[in-house]
Amino acid sequence: MKRLNIKWKIMLWHSLALLLIFIAVLPIMYLVISDHLYKGAETLLLSEAGKITGLLRLGEGMDEPNTGIDLIQTGTYIAVYSDANEIISGRLPEDFDPNAQPIFNDVHYEGFAEHKWMVLDRELIVHGKRTGWFRVVKPLDAISSALAYFKTMIYIATLIIICFSALMMISGGFITRALSPVKQITKTAQQIGQGNLSKRINFEGGHDEVGVLAATFDKMLDRLEDSFDREKRFSADVSHELRTPVTAIIVNAEEALVGDKTAEEYRENLKTILLEGKKMNSLISQLLMMARSIDGNYIQEMECIDLSALTQTIVEDVTERDENSGITISADIDSGIIMLFDQTLFMRLLYNLIDNALKYNVPSGWVKVSLKKQQSTVLLSVGDGGIGISEEDLPRIWNRFYKANQSTISSSPGLGLSIVRWIAEQFGGSVSVMSELGKGSLFEVRFEVK
Ligand code: ADP
Repeated sequence: MKRLNIKWKIMLWHSLALLLIFIAVLPIMYLVISDHLYKGAETLLLSEAGKITGLLRLGEGMDEPNTGIDLIQTGTYIAVYSDANEIISGRLPEDFDPNAQPIFNDVHYEGFAEHKWMVLDRELIVHGKRTGWFRVVKPLDAISSALAYFKTMIYIATLIIICFSALMMISGGFITRALSPVKQITKTAQQIGQGNLSKRINFEGGHDEVGVLAATFDKMLDRLEDSFDREKRFSADVSHELRTPVTAIIVNAEEALVGDKTAEEYRENLKTILLEGKKMNSLISQLLMMARSIDGNYIQEMECIDLSALTQTIVEDVTERDENSGITISADIDSGIIMLFDQTLFMRLLYNLIDNALKYNVPSGWVKVSLKKQQSTVLLSVGDGGIGISEEDLPRIWNRFYKANQSTISSSPGLGLSIVRWIAEQFGGSVSVMSELGKGSLFEVRFEVK
């Protein structure tokens, strides 16, 4: 069975199901019909017996019982017995035992297999005195042979129906047609195996199970192609981002190695190499996090964190680090906000937002960090009076490697905000931004506290 193709399997199951239906239904039909026939014969026998009783009583005593020519014509035999159990009138079928013991007033059967009789014995009471009895015998050969014939017909009909329906299914191509999308799916999957992700089944044959399967397969391919494209773009973007600092390092190292240089010139080369190395380092750690966010392999280390204290520490750290930038950093933090969080991820999220606010600021600008708890919501916001973001760029800044204001800062890789959004979503949070070119921006991250 396992090696059969699906077409033959369906056909076999179908035939088996039909056979089971016939096996269950036909015996019931047979029983109902045979019961009906026997009951009909019994009713006839009783009515004939009634008539005979009447006829026999008509003759004032037992001398000349009228055995009723009509009854014999209908195939019913009658024999009148004396009180001493001797036949005194009428006749019985040739092979019927005339001495069979009477069972009065109860329809019973004599004979065997297909050669049976329906028998009714009745006493003859004349003027209140038993004068003998009579026996009415109805051969059942006709019913038996009709039922035997019916049985044979049932067998033949069952066989014909099963063969015919199986033939119809195969030759009419019902199964083949119903399974055609499966073939298409196989063909498409084979083509995809050869590296072509743009192939689709595009099944137009309705919405049955196979149609739904084909549509689901197409949708899966859409998603697969989309993620494959994103991976391709990601690799291309990563190579592009890494090439810039690597080129700067190589150029500076080569330059330092050519000819004699003053100590100051060597220092300049080394400074650039160090700067580019640091950029690469930060880029690589962002990329690493990005890659983990893509394949879902980041293992969170959840702990109860005092977000208020941590935010305060980060603000102080950034203020110290950028004290010469001329940008004023202020904070408005509600105390005692505790949340279950991954500390590394929270720090990354906040550093990314503050770094951006500083990076895309104006000389003597300002940055404001705020952490507030409003009922069950914790709201973290980072605002700045910097260069702002154009309306056109706003919806795209969360995308990986998207850089608005490119002309301003060319070295930023465009990963910070996509990481911010990923981290927020990891903890059931949401991100939003309001910004106006030339006026500044306000980034907000909202978390629900359970
Ligand atoms: P990156 O800063 O590395 O370029 P991000 O994903 O952090 O990447 O930001 C995407 C883009 O959004 C940036 O290129 C920048 O143009 C814009 N942006 C982000 N934060 C700000 C901000 N506070 N003010 C103005 N522009 C911003």
